[in-house]
Amino acid sequence: MKKILSFIGIAAVLAMASNVSFAQNASKEQDARLMEIADSLHKVMFTIDTHVDSAEYLNHPDNKGYSVTKGQVTFPKMKAGGLDACFFAIYVGQGKLDPVSSQKAVDYGFRELRLFKEYMKKHESECAQAWCADDFWPLKKQGKSIVMFTLENGYVIGKDINNLRKFYNEGCRAMTLTHNYNNDICDGSRDSVEHWRGLSPFGRAVVDSLNYLGMIVDVSHVTRASLLDAVAYSKAPCVATHSGVWNIKNHPRNLRDDEIKAIAAKGGLIQIGSGRFFLSWRPKTEVSVKNFVDHVEYVKNLVGVEHVGIGTDFDGGGGMNGLEDSSQMKNITVEMLRRGWTHEDIKLFWGENLLRVLRIVEQKGKELQGR
Ligand SMILES: [Zn+2]
Repeated sequence: MKKILSFIGIAAVLAMASNVSFAQNASKEQDARLMEIADSLHKVMFTIDTHVDSAEYLNHPDNKGYSVTKGQVTFPKMKAGGLDACFFAIYVGQGKLDPVSSQKAVDYGFRELRLFKEYMKKHESECAQAWCADDFWPLKKQGKSIVMFTLENGYVIGKDINNLRKFYNEGCRAMTLTHNYNNDICDGSRDSVEHWRGLSPFGRAVVDSLNYLGMIVDVSHVTRASLLDAVAYSKAPCVATHSGVWNIKNHPRNLRDDEIKAIAAKGGLIQIGSGRFFLSWRPKTEVSVKNFVDHVEYVKNLVGVEHVGIGTDFDGGGGMNGLEDSSQMKNITVEMLRRGWTHEDIKLFWGENLLRVLRIVEQKGKELQGR
């Protein structure tokens, strides 16, 4: 009897083990099938990441002073990940606001931009610069990795609004009003005090100029008061190029529901960042693409899929399990397919939303210029 029971026990264990391995094989097969669908989707849809800090790393790969840069975005990695385009940020950290320090920031910004253009020249068979929304599809068809320039921290224009036009003339098409700290334009979300409690008078002139030039007003990094003021004041839709959802993780860099609703009501976008620290309370090693898509779906459910996209913040703190660099972008598409997203919604998320908003911003600029 004992022998019969132990035989039954062993048989049950074997059956369970074979069920587990059957389930594992089935899920591997399903993952492979979803990756095939993702592969084919990435060939036919336009994909853009609206914030990477990789220009700084690629300009100075030997500089050990940069703690967060890792070369997460290169043109070959973009190709491997089915990522067509990135907003490459020219980033300046917040310094003192006196005229001499401000001018140093301006000079640094133009120098970094020139250096990255030299880098692009050396890789001209792989990449090309986009100057407007209509450039993207033709460049994708040529097989180029596409660079659109953006400015991170309005401190980069110093105290002279004419610098904004000079950066525009170089191809910069968005500007984050500030970084983590207060500047001459508005307040930063990690500063200890709120100085302006909205846009400053200079900040209003800057938003006017961004609208006039047809550049995107980027409201990531700013305080809630500055964001709501900028969105209300801007004549064109605004974009948070790399932000998360406050209700999932209470972090000053993340957006509360009223901020998300205000951006969407104006026709703008919330582009979710991929920094582990902004996405989840869990230990960094446990944060994955699933957490990222949770933030995306929160925005989708709150204001609609027409208002959400991605801005990884690679080489600026972005990256997580399954999305360590731009060669792994398709894992996001796989996760969306697994959750039942339609191909149309996936296309909106990956690029159609951004193209639509950029065209509206460009059109508003032409209107204001009387063209
Ligand atoms: Zn940033």
